[in-house]
Amino acid sequence: MKLLEDRIRRDSEVLPGNVLKINSFLNHQVDPELMMAVGQEFARLFQDSGVTKVLTCEASGIAPGVMAAYELHVPMVFARKKKPATLNDAVYWADVYSYTKKVTNQICVEQKFLHEDDNLLIIDDFLANGEAVKGMINIAKQAQANIAGIGIVVAKNFQGGSAWIKEHGYRLEALANIASLRDNQVHFMGEE
Ligand code: 5GP
Repeated sequence: MKLLEDRIRRDSEVLPGNVLKINSFLNHQVDPELMMAVGQEFARLFQDSGVTKVLTCEASGIAPGVMAAYELHVPMVFARKKKPATLNDAVYWADVYSYTKKVTNQICVEQKFLHEDDNLLIIDDFLANGEAVKGMINIAKQAQANIAGIGIVVAKNFQGGSAWIKEHGYRLEALANIASLRDNQVHFMGEE
């Protein structure tokens, strides 16, 4: 998606450890117009997939997730990283190892929001090693829901997540595909 790639070129910073900082439009400050364009692109890609719900993870999946859900006219559910005190009902849990924070967290979704007749579009901001996506797939499986596909805003294709998703037969659509962050520069796929 050219609009997104141009914005990444203009407004990102490469941090040590192959981490891309894009907190002026997605990870801290959010650009709603860009997120709407992202949501429209996910909706265009998955318009014929019969998606019934978008599943994402707090916090940074929410902006692209809600825009995709808005465009597809379906609800969005975000997995929580801590069980809220108000949440007494049955929940699905999954472990997620955080690449950026180097810790294992648990994510949870209240069982009443996912059903076996759901066809889920899983959305996240970044794809690195695929741990967050694996956690959401785990939760979808516990609910016996189908997975229509996985929509990622920025995929770092030189890490293992993209290969894992494709090897496991899921449809993956990433709107910006990064081949490397060599020399502290963003190199998109097809550029090298
Ligand atoms: P994975 O679980 O695929 O290893 O990593 C995905 C999660 O880690 C994303 O939800 C995102 O929050 C975080 N993450 C991974 N790589 C990056 C990165 O380069 N930049 C930022 N901002 N977040 C990242």
